[in-house]
Amino acid sequence: MSLAGRASCAVHPERHGSAACVGCKRIGCVECMTRWEGIHYCTRCLAARRAPRRLSSMTLPWLGWLVVIAAGAAASLVMLPTLLARLVELSR
Ligand SMILES: [Zn+2]
Ligand SMILES: [Zn+2]
Repeated sequence: MSLAGRASCAVHPERHGSAACVGCKRIGCVECMTRWEGIHYCTRCLAARRAPRRLSSMTLPWLGWLVVIAAGAAASLVMLPTLLARLVELSR
C-alpha cells in the first residue's frame, strides 16, 4: 500500500508508517505493527485478536490446583504404609 509509505505512525508521528492495521486501519511503524498470520495488526488489535487464546492462561489456576491435589494424593500415599501399620497394630 502506498498510503502506508507516505503516512506516519499513529503512535509515533516522527516515524514513518510501515503498514496499515487491518483492524482499525491506523498506520503504524515497524515497532507498532506486528505481522500475525501474514496480516498486519497494531498492538491493540493484536491483543484483541489474541484474546480468545487467553483461555489457555485461565486454565493455569486449575493446573495449580491439580498440582496441589496431586501433592496431597502423593502425601496420603506416603502416609498409607503408616496407616496400615497402625491398623495391623490395632487388629492384634
Ligand atoms: Zn489496529
Ligand atoms: Zn509507532
